[in-house]
Amino acid sequence: MSRFVFDFDEPSGGGRELLGGKGIGLAEMTLLGLPVPAGFTITTDACRAYMKENELPEGLEAEVERHVRRLEQRTGKRFGDDADPLLVSVRSGAAISMPGMMDTILNLGLNDDAAEGLAGRTGNPRFAYDSYRRLIQMFGEVVDGIDAHRFEDALTELKERRNARQDTDLGADDLRELVATYREIYPTFPSDAREQLLRAVRAVFDSWNTPRAQVYRRANDIPDDLGTAVNVVQMVFGNKGERSGTGVAFTRDPSTGEQGVFGEFLANAQGEDVVAGIRTPQPLETMRDTMPDAYAQLLETMRRLEEHYRDMQDVEFTVEDDALYMLQTRAAKRTAAAALKAAVDMTDEGLISREEAVTRIDPAQLDQLLHPTIDPNARLDVAGKGLNASPGAASGGIVFDADTAVERAKDGPVILVRWETTPDDIHGMIAAQGILTVHGGMTSHAAVVARGMGKPCVAGCEDLSLDDGVARIGGRELHEGDVITIDGGTGRVFVGEVPLVAPRLNEDFETVLGWADDVRRLKVRANADTPDDAARAREFGAQGIGLCRTEHMFFGAERLPVMQEMILADTEEGRRSALDRLLPFQQADFEGIFEAMTGLPVTIRLLDPPLHEFLPSEDQVTDEKVRARIRGLHEQNPMLGLRGCRLGLVYPEIYEMQVRAIARAARTVGAGAVVEIMHPLVGFAEELRRLRELTERVWDEEAGDVPRLIGTMVELPRACMRAGEIAEHADFFSFGTNDLTQTTLGVSRDDAEGKFLTRYLNDGVLERNPFEVLDQDGVGGLMRIAVERGRATKPELKLGICGEHGGEPSSVAFCHRLGLDYVSCSPYRVPLARLAAAQAALEEAGSAQYVAAGG
Ligand code: ADP
Ligand code: MG
Ligand code: MG
Repeated sequence: MSRFVFDFDEPSGGGRELLGGKGIGLAEMTLLGLPVPAGFTITTDACRAYMKENELPEGLEAEVERHVRRLEQRTGKRFGDDADPLLVSVRSGAAISMPGMMDTILNLGLNDDAAEGLAGRTGNPRFAYDSYRRLIQMFGEVVDGIDAHRFEDALTELKERRNARQDTDLGADDLRELVATYREIYPTFPSDAREQLLRAVRAVFDSWNTPRAQVYRRANDIPDDLGTAVNVVQMVFGNKGERSGTGVAFTRDPSTGEQGVFGEFLANAQGEDVVAGIRTPQPLETMRDTMPDAYAQLLETMRRLEEHYRDMQDVEFTVEDDALYMLQTRAAKRTAAAALKAAVDMTDEGLISREEAVTRIDPAQLDQLLHPTIDPNARLDVAGKGLNASPGAASGGIVFDADTAVERAKDGPVILVRWETTPDDIHGMIAAQGILTVHGGMTSHAAVVARGMGKPCVAGCEDLSLDDGVARIGGRELHEGDVITIDGGTGRVFVGEVPLVAPRLNEDFETVLGWADDVRRLKVRANADTPDDAARAREFGAQGIGLCRTEHMFFGAERLPVMQEMILADTEEGRRSALDRLLPFQQADFEGIFEAMTGLPVTIRLLDPPLHEFLPSEDQVTDEKVRARIRGLHEQNPMLGLRGCRLGLVYPEIYEMQVRAIARAARTVGAGAVVEIMHPLVGFAEELRRLRELTERVWDEEAGDVPRLIGTMVELPRACMRAGEIAEHADFFSFGTNDLTQTTLGVSRDDAEGKFLTRYLNDGVLERNPFEVLDQDGVGGLMRIAVERGRATKPELKLGICGEHGGEPSSVAFCHRLGLDYVSCSPYRVPLARLAAAQAALEEAGSAQYVAAGG
């Protein structure tokens, strides 16, 4: 019979997928001999079974009961006992951590009698009733969906009546009174401990499918069918008084990666009080004076955890009467800068190898470092200051709630401004460019989630006040839509827009990417159309240009009229005369690009778009002849019309001119120009045979034996199927996966996005947007055929990809496995592709067994 429940110290045979991140962390910490309260994990198998049947799987209840018994034996207390009750927490934990997404309930096992028993037994009635009121509230919210405000309002009201500033100013009698009020708010609160437990377990399972959890999963590409585990943990109490408390800590600074203690602690508190901003937490170091033993033990524990996981951790802990208990550990959420610094430092410390360091960085996260920051030379008027919770700068119109953020983000950037954020704000945080909160610390919800998303966040900005749709800061009054700028790297807030500067790459970045370059096999090129782009791409480490589009060379004030003259000409002669005048422009453009990329290959794609894109629309012109020509060029479906190499065959003089310009530029620049001429949209070998002939003839006239490659962009299914014969005329293939995805799926990207693709993604018809993440089975399957057949004809055939996918990590890994020679992506994605290519190589080599275990 399959088992659904494992004690923390029992071998389960399963890993993170089975026990969830929290469960595996608790099990491993227990195994390491660290102080972890006893407990057990109900597996994700149970959750999946529950989701299928909408009922707890058979036998689960009995199995839970057996483990409760064991817990009773270990603790010497009984669950449901009135005199000296065993209390537990019920905690969700999926395989991939979803901060704040799932709900935890503390202090299960209390009821009116047990609270009295606990008060008597501990001699601390304040603590007993504090625990009890928390249970009623959490249970009511999570299990029965009672509005949290109703509890909070009752608490606030009581505090006002008692003149209490903080929760901790309330005494035992106050809390007893509060419990009575809570019981009125929530009269159906179940008194039976076992009923509490089972209903809580179901509620955790149910919480997997709450809208906010779904939004988070969608935003983070987490599959919907993983399910969550449930951890049942003996309670330890941080709310027993000043010798107790609860905290969170990082083994290194999650913003910068600096070594050293970093965290927050709140005395006489329980659970999420630290992150919920109920009272302002203390820096962790204050524990050194107030509870030195627990502090020393915590530091030692964190050191051991880092050594064990060989990765930066963040932990949650509680101190009960000076005794430390670990409640959670996971790979720390960190900024990209912190990830790089920690990886380099840990390599220096001998904790991990260079290869492991490379696997420690999430390629998608590098994007963060490429965020703009505030121009250091700008003269600025700082309106207010908060905590530098997540780096990067952003400007936008302010919005005060998540729904408005989503709404207004459609028209332009917004900054979400809140007292504090909660998991219900997640969609607004996704939509916003940045987040600003009045309240909360470095580990508040806003800060943690923003860092995870790589979004700028300033938290705890007490210079800001919010009042019914009005924000006041620095003596200014702001309303919805008024523009502010936040700098998450320093915590500064400005009114209005502020000049931003492009990011610079730091030393850690260069170091880790250097290590990545040592292990990757795939080359990384950039898609760049201008010398400026080419230069930027080189700075980011591009090893050439994989796609240089030439269409822009026909635009520009001096060029477009000539281009239009060419298109409107009736005769070949007329076209040639216009093209002759375009040639010098193009030649100069190519010279600039060859110089910027000197010594590295440049793949130039000959003209691709349909000609009507260069003409005005019919109603913009009066000349009837021109109007007729525009009508004549009209196509029902230009994407599949007269474009790509078809243009080169119908109007050979256009491609001749382009080849001539390239050849002359190559001759002018000399040996540094490494030329690859690419013919787009080839579907038939005969197309390429003829165009190769044209290309070679012109090249020979202009540049003789200067080396050059001639190839094709593979973007039609037919080209993949007939790659064997097409390769006879090609020195290289470059997969144009944007069009190849459109033509394989029969989906026009621009039409699909608004019409049905978003719907498909929301409804789960598709898991990923195939225009962002390569459809490996379909489009990738065709690529595989093309690679095999192409190489069968010509083993030395050079292979690359130049669609958007060339900069998406999982697609880069696929290209590695396919055996391509290079990927090409936009200049800003080059670093990411370098890293992803290295990780793919390490994974293949099997040396990536330490790949950051999620988290
Ligand atoms: P989250 O997934 O939101 O981090 P957790 O399950 O970690 O939720 O619970 C939140 C907090 O509740 C913990 O950080 C800890 O402070 C507190 N907590 C959970 N279980 C216990 C327990 N058995 N004893 C004491 N505190 C607990
Ligand atoms: Mg939580
Ligand atoms: Mg936690």
